Amino acid sequence: MELVQGRTYTREEIREAVGGGDLQSYLPHKAGRVLCGCFKPEINARAPFEVEVGNLPDVIKYARVLVKDGTVIPVFLKQSTGAWRFEGRFRPVSLSESQADLFPAKPRRADAVAVIYLEPTELHEDLGAAADEDVAATEGDRNLAVHLRRERSRSLAEAKRRSARQEHGNLRCEACGLSETGLPVELGEACFEVHHRVPLALLASVHQTRLDDLAILCANCHRMIHRSLPMASVEAFREMRDGTGSLPGS
Ligand SMILES: [Zn+2]
Ligand SMILES: [Zn+2]
Repeated sequence: MELVQGRTYTREEIREAVGGGDLQSYLPHKAGRVLCGCFKPEINARAPFEVEVGNLPDVIKYARVLVKDGTVIPVFLKQSTGAWRFEGRFRPVSLSESQADLFPAKPRRADAVAVIYLEPTELHEDLGAAADEDVAATEGDRNLAVHLRRERSRSLAEAKRRSARQEHGNLRCEACGLSETGLPVELGEACFEVHHRVPLALLASVHQTRLDDLAILCANCHRMIHRSLPMASVEAFREMRDGTGSLPGS
């Protein structure tokens, strides 16, 4: 069976497509190899980019196997009972058991003992956000293209929104403080965008995107920050907006 990105599958179909494994674990494996990742957003809000590893010997064992082998795996996120959406193929980048990564300022699942960092093997421009289209195409077209492509990765943007909601209870612009509280859901979806913090000049050389590299901005602030040249950090932009600072080069 050919897996189609964005389509949902049952665990039985996934087992068939990946050639084995059990129907329960989130890293199904066979003959010592991890076959795929099946993650539940309600437990792993930052998946598929960061996957928190529960405290069971078999689970931590296969998390280590996955990262050591570096196997590219198809990744699925649970949407509802019996419906797991194919997010694409991801490469394990690293595994951290450090307390600083496990328990940063934001809440993680309470029983986590490690976090796996994964990156997509290809980035898809399927978010369909038109908002960036009139962003001035300067500061190195290639860097800007990388920036926009990463921001438009649907699964990355969704993971960022999920983790922001988990952390703050709602989406809030990190520059002006506008919050979705009180807005109908569809309007909030239209207003809040995901912005890549890494300076454009560095972006082409940075391969892995961590969720902390991303910021939630309202559409206005997002457009404005891209008009600043060189692109301001979210913090500098916020101070400029508040009238307590000025943008570089202005
Ligand atoms: Zn804003
Ligand atoms: Zn941006």
